[in-house]
Amino acid sequence: MTDPETIVIIGAGVIGLSTALCIQQSLSPVQSVLLVARDFPSDTSVNYASPWAGAHYRPVPGSSPQALREAGQAQRTYEFMKRVAADEPGAGVKFIQGVEHLEAPPNEYLDAQSVLNVYEHLDGFRHLTSDEMPEGVKWGAQYISYVVNSPVYCAHMLRKFVLKGGDTRQYNLANIKEAFSLASNVSAVVNCSGVGFEDPKSFIIRGQTCLVRNPVSATITRQNEDGSWSFCIPRPLDGGTIIGGTKEPHNWDPNPSMETRARLLANAKKWFPFKPESGGQFDVVRDIVGRRPAREGGMRIEVEELEEGKQIVHAYGAGGRGFELSRGVAEDTAALMLEKGILREKAAL
Ligand SMILES: Cc1cc2nc3c(=O)[nH]c(=O)nc-3n(C[C@H](O)[C@H](O)[C@H](O)COP(=O)(O)OP(=O)(O)OC[C@H]3O[C@@H](n4cnc5c(N)ncnc54)[C@H](O)[C@@H]3O)c2cc1C
Repeated sequence: MTDPETIVIIGAGVIGLSTALCIQQSLSPVQSVLLVARDFPSDTSVNYASPWAGAHYRPVPGSSPQALREAGQAQRTYEFMKRVAADEPGAGVKFIQGVEHLEAPPNEYLDAQSVLNVYEHLDGFRHLTSDEMPEGVKWGAQYISYVVNSPVYCAHMLRKFVLKGGDTRQYNLANIKEAFSLASNVSAVVNCSGVGFEDPKSFIIRGQTCLVRNPVSATITRQNEDGSWSFCIPRPLDGGTIIGGTKEPHNWDPNPSMETRARLLANAKKWFPFKPESGGQFDVVRDIVGRRPAREGGMRIEVEELEEGKQIVHAYGAGGRGFELSRGVAEDTAALMLEKGILREKAAL
């Protein structure tokens, strides 16, 4: 009889949890899964990106290998989120109107095919006509997007994982190889740690946003002429609205800036359709600072072979798109594990 094996997954962010659920669909009877993480959905830390995400879906046109890979993962995640929104009302996912207003559209937005590649699949997609666009806006589109109450969605996935028999352990790993000692007969470790372990290609992108109680009915993104971004993202299940936001590579400041808060709210008041009853005032719940776990060239999804037949499956570096890519990344990771014989049954993905 074959000895029971454990697959250890590092990370309880949106990537680790999505991957854990996909892996559970393909386990052989002698395999079990242990999810190990320093932070779980009830924790808050500037280094734990998932609970801080807006999170909404906004396509990103481009022709680099990273852009093309992400386009496929994003499209599969869009279809998956439709099923989640329809079948799991407590998951915190909702489909609503998405609108984009760009003042200085990058070249990719001016190439019709490049735009169609990532927008065409979206329900209700159309370009805005010039008289529909606010002053100063040179490129505009609308489509049905989805918004995610990120802490609720992560807690929902964790509950599903545990109900399907998954084990969890809160643990801060000093070294990735330590994960092989956290259970008996660990056959593989899946690295969904966000930034990875001392990968020189990894870096952080600081994001500051503001959570307010004021409701809004659409998710709107505005790119300003100076390259900065403004967005509003209503969080399902009465989770308030995220007003954003900054994208600051390599900025390690963990403290919210009050000047940034004032600028974000002033722009939101100008550009987003908050109800007149609020009198132009925002009811602030909290300032948010999080670190997006980015990586040059995009996510690392690959198997590293160690001595003695042990394997590490890497799936980290989602940057600012972890929710938008989550199901596609999880499917690709599980498919790679099947291909390498780490999972032994065909995935019912
Ligand atoms: C302000 C802001 C807004 C954002 N908006 C969006 C959006 O609108 N749409 C979108 O798709 N994305 C958005 N993002 C990005 C998104 O949050 C990330 O891409 C995503 O959360 C990354 O998920 P992850 O699971 O890879 O990493 P994380 O959520 O950071 O999780 C990493 C996990 O690994 C664990 N871990 C790490 N190191 C160790 C260790 N040594 N030992 C044990 N455990 C460890 C952590 O404890 C944690 O459980 C936003 C991010 C920010 C900050």
